[in-house]
Amino acid sequence: MKTKKIKHLLIGSNNAGKVREIKQLLPRYIRVSSIIDYKLKSPKETGKTFLQNSFIKSKFFSKKTGKICLADDSGLEIDILNKKPGIFSARWGGRKNNFNLAINKVFMELDKVDKNWRKKKIKARFVCALTIYGPNLKRVYSIGIVEGRISNKKIGNNGFGYDPIFIPKGKKVTFGQMKFKNKFKIDHRAKAFKKIRKFL
Ligand code: IMP
Repeated sequence: MKTKKIKHLLIGSNNAGKVREIKQLLPRYIRVSSIIDYKLKSPKETGKTFLQNSFIKSKFFSKKTGKICLADDSGLEIDILNKKPGIFSARWGGRKNNFNLAINKVFMELDKVDKNWRKKKIKARFVCALTIYGPNLKRVYSIGIVEGRISNKKIGNNGFGYDPIFIPKGKKVTFGQMKFKNKFKIDHRAKAFKKIRKFL
C-alpha cells in the first residue's frame, strides 16, 4: 500500500549531526524539523532489535507532537561476540558517548573470546533501521546493512563511533579512513534511506 505524500517530517534524534545527514538523504521537497526544536527527551530504548527501537522512538515522538516522525536506530554487530554490541552500540560508549571507550571494549571482548582474533577475519556489519510513524499513516520501515570485518587496530580519523575499526566488504580501508562522501554512498544508513524513499 502506498502512503500519501509526506511533505513534512519530524526527525526523532537529538543529534544535530545526524539530523543534518538525514536531511541530505531525503527528497528535497520534504521539509524537515527535529525534536531538538521541541526540547523532548528520548524514550527508553527497551526493544530487542534495531527495528523495535526505531519504532519505539518514532511512535513516542509522533504521539508527543502530533507530527509524522522518522526515527532510526543503528549499530555494529560482531559475529563472534554473538552480534554484540548490537543495539547497545551507543551505550558501550558510556554516558558521554565516548567512542574510544566503546572501541576499547570491543577489543577487550574480542580478546576474551579469542586471543588470536587479530590474525583472523572477524565478520561484522553495521545495521540501520528506520521507522516512519504518524497520524493517519500506515507504518513504514526499512533496514539497511553493510557487511564487513573488524580491523586489527584503530585506523583513521574520519567519521564517528566504530568507523576506525570497520572495514567494509570489498575495501582495504576502514570507514574511518574513507572520505565522508564515499562512506555515505555505501553505508547502512544510505541503504536504509534508499529503501524508505520509495514510500515517500
Ligand atoms: P543510535 O544513535 O542509537 O542509533 O546509536 C548508534 C550507535 O551505533 C552510535 O553511537 C555508534 O556507536 C554506532 N554507529 C551507528 N552507525 C555508525 C556508523 O556509521 N559508524 C560508526 N558507528 C556507528
